[in-house]
Amino acid sequence: MKSETLSMHQIGLFWFQQDLRLSDNSALLAACQQCKQLILLYCAEPGWFSPGHYHSKRMGSQRWRFVLDSVQELRQQLEQRGQQLVIRYQSPVQAISELISQYRVDAIYRSRQPGFYEQQQWQKLQSRFPYLHFAEHDSNTLFEQQQLPFLLQQLPASFSQFRKLAEQLAVLPAQHAPASIPASQLRIQASADLPAYPHWVKPMMHGGEASGQYHLQQYFKGNLASHYKEVRNELDGFSNSTKFSAWLAAGCISPRQVIAALTHYEAQHGRNDSSYWIYFELLWREYFHWYAHCYGKQLFLKGGIKNRPLHTSFYPQRFQAWCTGNTPYPLINACMRQLTTTGYLSNRGRQIVASCFVNELQLDWRYGAAWFEQQLIDYDVAVNWGNWQYLAGVGADPRGQRHFDIAKQQSRFDADGSFIERWSNGTASSRLDWVDAADWPCS
Ligand SMILES: Cc1cc2nc3c(=O)[nH]c(=O)nc-3n(C[C@H](O)[C@H](O)[C@H](O)COP(=O)(O)OP(=O)(O)OC[C@H]3O[C@@H](n4cnc5c(N)ncnc54)[C@H](O)[C@@H]3O)c2cc1C
Repeated sequence: MKSETLSMHQIGLFWFQQDLRLSDNSALLAACQQCKQLILLYCAEPGWFSPGHYHSKRMGSQRWRFVLDSVQELRQQLEQRGQQLVIRYQSPVQAISELISQYRVDAIYRSRQPGFYEQQQWQKLQSRFPYLHFAEHDSNTLFEQQQLPFLLQQLPASFSQFRKLAEQLAVLPAQHAPASIPASQLRIQASADLPAYPHWVKPMMHGGEASGQYHLQQYFKGNLASHYKEVRNELDGFSNSTKFSAWLAAGCISPRQVIAALTHYEAQHGRNDSSYWIYFELLWREYFHWYAHCYGKQLFLKGGIKNRPLHTSFYPQRFQAWCTGNTPYPLINACMRQLTTTGYLSNRGRQIVASCFVNELQLDWRYGAAWFEQQLIDYDVAVNWGNWQYLAGVGADPRGQRHFDIAKQQSRFDADGSFIERWSNGTASSRLDWVDAADWPCS
C-alpha cells in the first residue's frame, strides 16, 4: 500500500479506466476508506472513435462492445450497492474539471495507467488543481512500484534480466471488493449516451467482472493449465491458451487474481512447466507495463527506445492488403481475417503477421501497432506497443529484429492447412505490389 494521508476527505472522485472491477482494486479500496462521499466516474472519449495519426481508430467495434458490457455490469453492481456510476462522453480532463468545480471534490483516485497519454491527463489535472489530493495505486500489475528492486529509470534492458529479479518478489494477495462504498448525497446527472456498437459484432468473450471471474474459475477447473505450454503456440482453439487477455486489458480481472487462482490450482494439481509458464507470460505483461512507465512517449517513436534509424517507406496498397488479408501469403491473410472477424489472434499469429509487416512488407511498424490497437479486443497500450517494438528491433530485444519465416511457420503450425482453410479459403493475392514507386500499374 502506498503511504498516504489517512485523513478523511469530504468528497472524493474515483476515476475508472482500465480497472473495471470492484474486487482487488486497491485504488478503489483506498478511495472508499478515505472519503466521506464518493463520486464514481467513467469517461468514454469522443476521440477514440475517429481515425488518429496512423489512419486507425483508438477504439474498434469488438473492444468497444467488450468495454461497454463491462461498464454496464459495473454500473449494475454499483446500483445494487446503492451507488451510481457517472458516465460521461467527453474528455476526462474536461469532465473531471467540471465535477471538481461543481461539487467541491477534494480528492481524486485512480489505478495507475501505463499509457503516456493517460499519464499526461493525470498531470494536467494535477497542475490545474494543485491543492487537491491525488492518489494513484498499482492495481493492474503483479507488483507495486515500491516493491521493484530497481529504480524505474533503471529497468533491466531485457526481459530475462527483469524476470530473474521479479521471480524473487512476492505477488501481493488479491483483495476483496470494498465492504461498503461511501454513498454520495449529490445529485449528478448520471449518464450520457455512449456510441452504440454495430449489430454485426458478435464477441467471442463477454466483458464484465462476473464473466471474467467465471472464465478464470472455468479455466482452472479442468487440467488445461497443466498442458498450457504444449499448446499455447497453436494458431486456433479457444482452450489452447488462457484467453484472460481481454478481461485483463479492461481490468475486469486483475493479474493478482490470476496468480491467486493459479496458486490454488497448483496446490491441488501440482506444479509443472506448463502451470509455471502462465506466470512466466504474466511476467512478460508485467515487464511491458513497467517498460511503458519507464519510457513514456518513446514507446511510440519510430526508432523506439533505442532511437534506431529505420528506413521504411509507406506503401498504402501493401498496408491495406495486410489489414484486409489480401497479401500473397495465405497464412498472413488467414490471421488478419481472424483478427478482423473476432478481435482476437493467438500470440504466434500476432508474431507472424507483425514480422511480415516489418520484414516482407517493409512498412513502418507503428501503422501495424495502431491497426492492432483498433482491432484487438484485448488491446493493452503497454503490451501492444512493447511487443511491436520488440519485433521491429527497436525495443527490449537484445537480439535485434525478429524475422519469422512464413513458410516454416505454416508447415509447423498449419501443416494440414485447416487454419488457412477456416479463415480465408486459401485465397491470396498473386503479387505484393500492383503499382510501382511512381504509382504506375505494374505490368
Ligand atoms: C505484436 C503483438 C501485439 C500484442 N498486443 C497485445 C495487446 O494489445 N494486448 C494483450 O493483452 N496482449 C498482446 N500481445 C501479447 C499476446 O499475444 C496476448 O496477450 C495473448 O495472445 C492473449 O491471449 P491469452 O490471454 O490466451 O494469452 P496466454 O498465452 O494465455 O497468456 C496469459 C497472459 O499472459 C500475458 N501474455 C501472454 N503473451 C504475452 C506477450 N507476448 N507479451 C506480454 N504479455 C503476454 C497476457 O496477459 C495473457 O493474457 C501482443 C503480442 C504481439 C506479438
